[in-house]
Amino acid sequence: MTEKMYPPSDDFVAGAHIDADTYASMYQASVDDPDTFWGREAKDRLDWIEPFSVVKNTCFDLGKVSVKWFEDGVLNVAYNCIDRHLESRGDQTAIIFEPDDPETPAQHITYTELHEKVCRFSNVLLAQGVMRGDRVIIYLPMIPEAAYAMLACARIGAIHSIVFAGFSPDALANRINDCGAKVVITADTAPRGGRRTNLKSNTDAALLHCSDKVRCLVVKHTGDQTTWIQDRDVDVKAMMAQVAPDCPIRPMNAEDPLFILYTSGSTGKPKGVVHSSGGYLLYAAMTQKLTFDYHDGDVFWCGADVGWVTGHSYIVYGPLANGATTLMFEGVPTYPDASRFWQVIEKHKVAQFYTAPTAIRALMGQGTSFVEGCDLSSLKVLGTVGEPINPEAWTWYNDNIGKGKLPIVDTWWQTETGGHMITPLPGAMATKPGSATKPFFGVQPVVLDPTSGKELHETKTEGVLAIKDSWPGQMRTVWGDHERFETTYFSDYKGYYFAGDGCRRDADGYYWITGRVDDVINVSGHRMGTAEVESALVAHAKVAEAAVVGYPHAVKGQGIYAYVTLMNNEEPSDELRRELEGWVRTEIGPIAKPDLIQWAPGLPKTRSGKIMRRILRKIAENDYDALGDISTLADPSVVEELIENRMNKA
Ligand code: ATP
Ligand code: MG
Repeated sequence: MTEKMYPPSDDFVAGAHIDADTYASMYQASVDDPDTFWGREAKDRLDWIEPFSVVKNTCFDLGKVSVKWFEDGVLNVAYNCIDRHLESRGDQTAIIFEPDDPETPAQHITYTELHEKVCRFSNVLLAQGVMRGDRVIIYLPMIPEAAYAMLACARIGAIHSIVFAGFSPDALANRINDCGAKVVITADTAPRGGRRTNLKSNTDAALLHCSDKVRCLVVKHTGDQTTWIQDRDVDVKAMMAQVAPDCPIRPMNAEDPLFILYTSGSTGKPKGVVHSSGGYLLYAAMTQKLTFDYHDGDVFWCGADVGWVTGHSYIVYGPLANGATTLMFEGVPTYPDASRFWQVIEKHKVAQFYTAPTAIRALMGQGTSFVEGCDLSSLKVLGTVGEPINPEAWTWYNDNIGKGKLPIVDTWWQTETGGHMITPLPGAMATKPGSATKPFFGVQPVVLDPTSGKELHETKTEGVLAIKDSWPGQMRTVWGDHERFETTYFSDYKGYYFAGDGCRRDADGYYWITGRVDDVINVSGHRMGTAEVESALVAHAKVAEAAVVGYPHAVKGQGIYAYVTLMNNEEPSDELRRELEGWVRTEIGPIAKPDLIQWAPGLPKTRSGKIMRRILRKIAENDYDALGDISTLADPSVVEELIENRMNKA
């Protein structure tokens, strides 16, 4: 892997919130004395109704796992995201809404307008009998009402759980039932990439499997005709016009749950991850400001969906807590064509742009002509999240979008962590393509020996990644199943939060995420991350995407099975197969040469764009009868095609 360093420019460092020296001293302070450090940050960054007297009260011991921060503090998240900004920035745009169709005008919603919308939305929920602690499912497209609904829940103390609008009625019903939701908020239809999903009819189908007490609030977004069930369905916009434009905030305890979010399911049955009000908000706000070096007046764009934690922390809660202008985009990167992201950046003068490696790779595959006509001069910082980014994709992003001048923050974190854990702070670190670099304040990553569970103390080392102590944004429990919380994250390695990922740490102390530990393969006694082999494959000019898994091999223990998607205009052939084998052999070494290469027109991905390797592993093992939960797959038909053409038919 390339280890070229990319330091920030002197100009950037001069204007940055955090430079290298500040990082070093603040980081030390944050781990030496977390109480003082986080106590001060919480007072500085959030407004409290009742101050807290206890900062940290956490325990990682199996059987007694408990995570509490600022436990006797009282605050309201919506107040922190809206009301406290009204005096100084009431007329400033809080949310820019960019619709799916570029011809439809964008909306600019000021903090004053946001306040009124959220108050009205809150009153609609109260009128439906939603009370403090009740669960509210939000199944909406990427429209301002999604943010209003989230903040309305926060205002009145209800717990929201967003279900990504691309999910099926089954997935929706499971989540409604798992958290026992009182209402579902949906829309008539959702335009995306020029097509429309009928969310209301999906919701109708889901509700057939739920208690008939569940109410359905419908945002008429497109005005498309939908079914209407009297006494159950409520027209949100009509109601909002009728209720009062103001609504008092509900004082909440710092530890009261703010939301539940189900994980993407790439490693098994989705878990209802519970996040808190105080610690979560502090962590989202602080990371949004420092990781992206956000300054007043910048337009911030996180291109994720609000259905993912990335959207929660970096479209809504983090930016709004900081009084930022945040952009919400309803569409997809390739509609009307592959220049859309870059058009939106030009149109709204975006300063920070945050996306996923999967989107970068997809756009990279389309060539640079789509970027060339766009003015990207407003950009200051680029970010990525979701998977290890292949150095190839990193370099494309750096050269074509950053024009070789902008810091790229490769942020490693999880639904469970609430915010960034290992990430460059752009004014403080030189980056290396493919490395998430160093820990955020208060985060103490350790590398453990996978078998003994012992901490590996050498700087340069490799093993599984765990976190030694709590941070405020940490999840508090799995909804309704605290035992699952303990066994999933605290039982494999005693006393640590175990993230499920492997990593290596280089001689400079930089962290390189090698993927899930399940994705580490052992070939003739050599351990290697599948991400490394994938990166080598993707670096080949004819390869668009690759997924690598291990399968039982009589001689080597595990063999390397590669699924390869070719660039648009490339044809599969045996010759190309040999070429790729030779390529990996020279890029990494003979040990990494794939044993089997299957041409894959498509790869099974979660709705958030992550490759579901556990399915690919099953197919490679020729054991495809029990694929487990595939309800969160974006396109299930891909799986049949792969099974049909599997290379390991016994
Ligand atoms: P599930 O837990 O249900 O399988 P998920 O893990 O896919 O869902 P997320 O919490 O969104 O859902 O993903 C977190 C995981 O994504 C991390 O554990 C890691 O494997 C990967 N990841 C995220 N960001 C990065 C990054 N910058 N570099 C490497 N890997 C990353
Ligand atoms: Mg996970």
